[in-house]
Amino acid sequence: MSATIIDGKAFAGTVREKVAGHVSRLKEEHGITPGLAVVLVGEDPASQVYVRSKGKMTVEVGMKSVEHKLDVETPEAELLALIDQLNNDPEIHGILVQLPLPKHLNEDLVINSIDPAKDVDGFHISNVGLLGTGQKSMVPCTPLGCLMMLRDHHGSLSGMDAVVIGRSNIVGKPMAQLLLGDSCTVTIAHSRTKDLADVVRRADIVVAAVGRPEMVPGDWIKEGATVIDVGINRIERDGKNKLVGDVDFDSCAARAGAITPVPGGVGPMTIACLLANTVTACCRANGLAEPE
Ligand code: NDP
Repeated sequence: MSATIIDGKAFAGTVREKVAGHVSRLKEEHGITPGLAVVLVGEDPASQVYVRSKGKMTVEVGMKSVEHKLDVETPEAELLALIDQLNNDPEIHGILVQLPLPKHLNEDLVINSIDPAKDVDGFHISNVGLLGTGQKSMVPCTPLGCLMMLRDHHGSLSGMDAVVIGRSNIVGKPMAQLLLGDSCTVTIAHSRTKDLADVVRRADIVVAAVGRPEMVPGDWIKEGATVIDVGINRIERDGKNKLVGDVDFDSCAARAGAITPVPGGVGPMTIACLLANTVTACCRANGLAEPE
């Protein structure tokens, strides 16, 4: 194996340390404690795990964490009323509604009812539009974490060929916008892309956000390319439950210049960026300089 392993877990630790520093300054110098509210509807096991770890890390960096766990059959009006209450709560600077929502709830309507200034997931239509036009916005946490790792590894990304596999609103599309913002030449691939292998072979940067275990084999990867694996897939192998990404790690690592592992790559960065976004939202709400 020749690739550098990009250690997202360690990087996320340094991001959280910086966030903790900002939080303590906000408290000491301004008497403000950033607050993050997470809303979970239903009992999806994976969502419960995410919400628990988000709450734990929010508290660890010194912020206020509020969790609202609602019954799976919660009517839409009740959820919207809670969001309205959080929008108007001066102690809450970030609001995250854990997705996916139960089928009877209109996800777009719910997300767009969050005050865009508190939309720390960056999914509100206003933030999507701001990002797309290169204006100051709340940037979705997973793509932001990927971008931070890429910048950290490469310095400038200008002029690099990037292929994003996946076009979801939460990962693929905002990832492509961010890479374009950093002057990459960006291709977005998806399930209808022809000759995906050839498309991926052109890339200096490959971001895989597909949701299909180990779909990208090593022989698709250009020698020396950087591979960012967003996928989180639970599979059973040799009688054991295992977490794997969207790329076949061993064969891709044999050709890549750098690669993120699963677990320990993109996942920890996502939560760290959520905390960083909450501090940013808090600073903006109070007219204070934002952390870099
Ligand atoms: P979605 O299911 O919303 O999107 C998957 C995308 O992959 C779609 O655009 C789809 O194309 C494309 N796709 C599916 N099959 C193929 C194929 N055979 N070839 C090419 N493209 C294909 O997933 P998400 O974007 O929400 O998530 C992607 C992965 O990232 C998942 O494994 C998820 O668990 C993980 N994830 C990880 C996070 C983290 O913190 N690390 C956070 C969020 C997600 P089409 O549009 O044509 O259907």
